[in-house]
Amino acid sequence: MDFQLPEEIALLKQNVRRFVDKELIPRERHTNSHRLEPELETTLKEAGKQLGLSLFDVPEEFGGQGFGMLARVVVWEELSRSTALPSRAQHIFGPDVSPILYQLEGTMRERYLLPVIRGEKRSCFAQTEPDAGSDPGSMRTTAVRDGDVYVINGTKRFITGADIADFVQVFAKTDAAKGARGGISAFIVDMNTPGLKLGAPADLMIDDKPYEIFFDNVRVPLENRIGQEGAGFGQAQTWLNTGRIRHGARSIGVMERCLELATSYAKQRKTFGEPLAQRQTIQSMLVDSYLELHQLRLMVYHAAWKFDRGEDVRAEAYMCKFFGDERSFVAADRCMQIHGGMGLSKELPIERFFRDQRSMMITEGPNEVLRMALARIVLATYA
Ligand SMILES: Cc1cc2nc3c(=O)[nH]c(=O)nc-3n(C[C@H](O)[C@H](O)[C@H](O)COP(=O)(O)OP(=O)(O)OC[C@H]3O[C@@H](n4cnc5c(N)ncnc54)[C@H](O)[C@@H]3O)c2cc1C
Repeated sequence: MDFQLPEEIALLKQNVRRFVDKELIPRERHTNSHRLEPELETTLKEAGKQLGLSLFDVPEEFGGQGFGMLARVVVWEELSRSTALPSRAQHIFGPDVSPILYQLEGTMRERYLLPVIRGEKRSCFAQTEPDAGSDPGSMRTTAVRDGDVYVINGTKRFITGADIADFVQVFAKTDAAKGARGGISAFIVDMNTPGLKLGAPADLMIDDKPYEIFFDNVRVPLENRIGQEGAGFGQAQTWLNTGRIRHGARSIGVMERCLELATSYAKQRKTFGEPLAQRQTIQSMLVDSYLELHQLRLMVYHAAWKFDRGEDVRAEAYMCKFFGDERSFVAADRCMQIHGGMGLSKELPIERFFRDQRSMMITEGPNEVLRMALARIVLATYA
């Protein structure tokens, strides 16, 4: 068993770390928003290009660099050491291409996938509804076949990037008698389709601004269905599995930065004549964060390794997400405590990590729901 990163991935990690230290960390005080200012985005993307990482996660057949999951993990991990990029939009080395779009074929590929890769179109992913979040099987949005079109009706809530999307990948019930498996299908709908209306953004404790989208008799041609009818739940899970490993990688970056900040502050801040770093209670907080960071890194790299071998990573992806999100939130909390009043200050990135990581335990599958899904695997494995 070799625990060393392959040389080219270790080098990649080093380069992205330098980029983050030079380009992102110095700017983080001025980027507290769900979206980068266009001018800054251009500057950062240009600096990113110099690193040779454009489209690093896009398959080679679509003009990208086709990096495997382990390489993607180290890039995500390093980018997440800084709060300069919006927590749910860290796409500095190219656009965000949802894995589902790679299933498109023929003219649909020309109209949607390729423009996204070229950065000409943007998309959003709409599964959640006012009455269906963790449990997509209870969604009420329907897509009813009417000759050669589907008619979509319903409301989606908390949709990230809906305000700037050109089209939405929306999930709707195509068979009311079936639950999540077999009853849900995915569709592509242009945001300017008659009957589709953008609602208001949610006002949250984090900087993100996810939107509502209303579908009122929205008619889309059959070819706008992605894959087979009834395959929607599986498609969403495929997308979410990659996202869960990504959450783990993100948490590694957050924990590492929190450790960097907490140790340097503990060494220089004196109380009662001694640096905080000399106190056992403080050391214990640092050691616990260090231990959990180590556990998480092993977990995430292992999941990425399995993913790159084409193996089933559902269990690993669940663990990466809920363990990573939980422990990175605790690491941010400890870092905040060690900083005292300064930990609450907007001059430092800690309060932002604290708010963002709290939110991560809810989005893309709350921790309890992922534990429930993992329990099914545990019960089946050890029965
Ligand atoms: C900032 C942000 C961005 C988002 N972006 C998107 C997006 O782009 N697209 C999209 O489709 N959705 C998006 N969401 C929605 C997000 O994925 C949902 O909020 C999440 O899945 C939880 O659904 P819910 O809020 O309806 O909570 P519910 O499903 O109502 O659950 C509420 C709580 O109940 C508990 N719970 C639920 N089920 C169980 C169970 N079986 N056992 C024990 N406890 C349980 C959990 O603690 C959970 O937090 C976003 C949300 C936010 C806040």
